[in-house]
Amino acid sequence: MLYHDRKALMASNRKNRLEIVQYGRMLHENGFVAATDGNLSVRLDDEHLLVTPTCISKGRMRASDMVIVDMAGKRLAGKRRVSSEIGMHLLIYRMRPDVCGIVHAHPPTATGFAASGYDLNRPLVCEVVVGLGSIPLARYGTPGTPELTDALEPLIPHHDAILMANHGVVTFGSSLESAYMKMETVEHFAKIALVSHLLGNEQPLGEKEVEKLHEVRNRYNHTGNAASPRRPAASDDLRSDDLQSDDLRSVTK
Ligand SMILES: [Zn+2]
Repeated sequence: MLYHDRKALMASNRKNRLEIVQYGRMLHENGFVAATDGNLSVRLDDEHLLVTPTCISKGRMRASDMVIVDMAGKRLAGKRRVSSEIGMHLLIYRMRPDVCGIVHAHPPTATGFAASGYDLNRPLVCEVVVGLGSIPLARYGTPGTPELTDALEPLIPHHDAILMANHGVVTFGSSLESAYMKMETVEHFAKIALVSHLLGNEQPLGEKEVEKLHEVRNRYNHTGNAASPRRPAASDDLRSDDLQSDDLRSVTK
C-alpha cells in the first residue's frame, strides 16, 4: 500500500505517532528501557517508516519528535536524527512484509538471559509456545553495524521475538501493539524461566504437547492475530503543536 493521497498519509501518520508515544511511555514505565535506550517504528506504507529519534527518553517523547525515513533509511521528515538502530528495523521490514511494527528494548530479565548466553527456547509455559513458538538468542554484534543485522538475519523469517546477546530484545508484529505485547511476553516469560530455574525442578512440556501447541499456533497464524489488538486511547496526548503538517509535505510530494 502506498499513500499517494496526502490526507490518508496524514491520518495514518498522526495515529501512528501517537501510538509510538504511548508504547514508548509503557516501555519506560515498565522498566524495559533506561535513559535513552530502545527504539520503536511503524510501517506507514510500502515506502515510508515512522521511527523514534536517537538520544531521547522513550518515556518523554512527543508526536512531533518522530522521524520519517524511506526504505533506504534516508530521513524525509522530522527535525531529530533517526535512531542508530535503523538498520535493524529496515532489515526486518524488508524480510517480513507482514510486519508493521517493531519494538527494541533492554528488559532486564530477558537481557540477563541474553547476557548469560541463554536463549528462551524451553517450552515451560503453554501460552508462550502458542504466542511466540520459541525465543532464540542471536550472537553478539556491535549496535548500529552490519554485525548486528547479520546476526539477526537468519532468525527473522521464523521468529517474532529475538534475544540479542549482551544487548537486549527485538520484537515485531502486524502492528506496533502486537510488537509491544510480545516484548511484555518475553520479559514476563524470562521471569518465569528464572524462577523455575531457581526452584530447581523445571518441567518443560513434552514433545507431543509442544506439537499440539504448534498446531494451535499455526491455526492462529492463518486466521489473524491470536490476541485481538486493542488500540491505546492516545487522543488525549495530542498537543496542537505536536503535528506539523509541514513535516509531511516532502513525503507526499
Ligand atoms: Zn539496544
